[in-house]
Amino acid sequence: MRAEPHSPDPADIVSLRSTGIRGPASVAGSIGQVFPHPRVRPGVDDSDAYSTEFGFELRTCRWAEREWPPGADDDTPVIVARQLGTERRRWDTIVLECDPDALRKRARFGRKRLDSDLLHAVRNAPAEWTYYRDALPHPGYPWRYVREAIHRADDRGILETRKDGNRIQVRRKWPYPDWCERIVAVENKPDLDRSAARRLRPQLEFDVAMALADEVWVATQRTGERVEPILLEDLPVEAGVLAFDPDTLSADVAWHPRTLAVEKPGTRILERPNAAGERDGSAARFEYADPEWKRERRLAIAERAYERGWRSFVDTMRPDCRQFRLREVDGQLLPYCDAKDRQPTAAECSGSCSSYEPEPPTWRTKGWPIEGGPGKRFKALLADRRRRRRPGLETEE
Ligand code: SF4
Repeated sequence: MRAEPHSPDPADIVSLRSTGIRGPASVAGSIGQVFPHPRVRPGVDDSDAYSTEFGFELRTCRWAEREWPPGADDDTPVIVARQLGTERRRWDTIVLECDPDALRKRARFGRKRLDSDLLHAVRNAPAEWTYYRDALPHPGYPWRYVREAIHRADDRGILETRKDGNRIQVRRKWPYPDWCERIVAVENKPDLDRSAARRLRPQLEFDVAMALADEVWVATQRTGERVEPILLEDLPVEAGVLAFDPDTLSADVAWHPRTLAVEKPGTRILERPNAAGERDGSAARFEYADPEWKRERRLAIAERAYERGWRSFVDTMRPDCRQFRLREVDGQLLPYCDAKDRQPTAAECSGSCSSYEPEPPTWRTKGWPIEGGPGKRFKALLADRRRRRRPGLETEE
């Protein structure tokens, strides 16, 4: 079922066609004037781009979308996203392993995430008409916020409401499905030298102690050495290690992770003694995250991942700059900057970039079948590909 590395993904080819743009072979020629896309160059050497964490991360996301779980012949559908987590810890890449039927049922609730207020309303809504205060558990905050959430859910068409006198009654449209089975967190470290390993260790220890994700991995550039150098670093044994080659989109498992106890209380290390490597008699300070809090956070992360995916990288870049392009490599659309003649990082490609040039107004009016210029079109292309990874979603809202 999984596509070979380097072969264009059929879903992606279809997505180009469905947006009125022909397949990869004809991209440059067919839309050259209005969509100044660099020529598709199979086998082009993008090694430099992938040595940055941003470039490496985009390739890891693409690989995970096609190949997860590593080394297994398994068709579990996955949702891949990047830069998500909690207030205290943001993961580079996350992979959600999903129940196929439940994932399709999740699509009934639309592309956008359900925030905690919406989830409270939708998950507790009864099958029969009921006064909302009798149906939903007290949320721990004023009921007026619940009423707002009920109206928002009604506006989105994911909950039914009616008035009985002055009382609002609710009824569910569908049960909210238990669609996300496991959450896997991946830290991307293309170049894990000694000092990077020292910085990474406390992050992984935090993840292992908290056990918010089912598994934690580190993805690092494959060196081809008999023993990958990362295995010589002092990292938690619970974290798995992927030796990843972003050029060929292939990976080897250098170390298998342990499954973390997501159902048990998590431990948050607030302060460590002996931080400088010297013995001291003080105790470490901890706090605990109860399983209910963890369940809620995991669902919130899964919902955000469902909405954003990893192609949302374009939302924090400047696709409205005339130097910005999307370039196709192995069926993956990657950002490219004509001014820099390479893939820009997310940090570089911002309003403070000294080479930023707004796209000419004529690009936004002439020859464009939809509102907006190439910048908007780039976003639409990526959004279309994201939608195709969410079975059951028919249209992008
Ligand atoms: S010139 Fe700057 S803002 Fe424009 S695409 Fe390149 S990196 Fe992005």
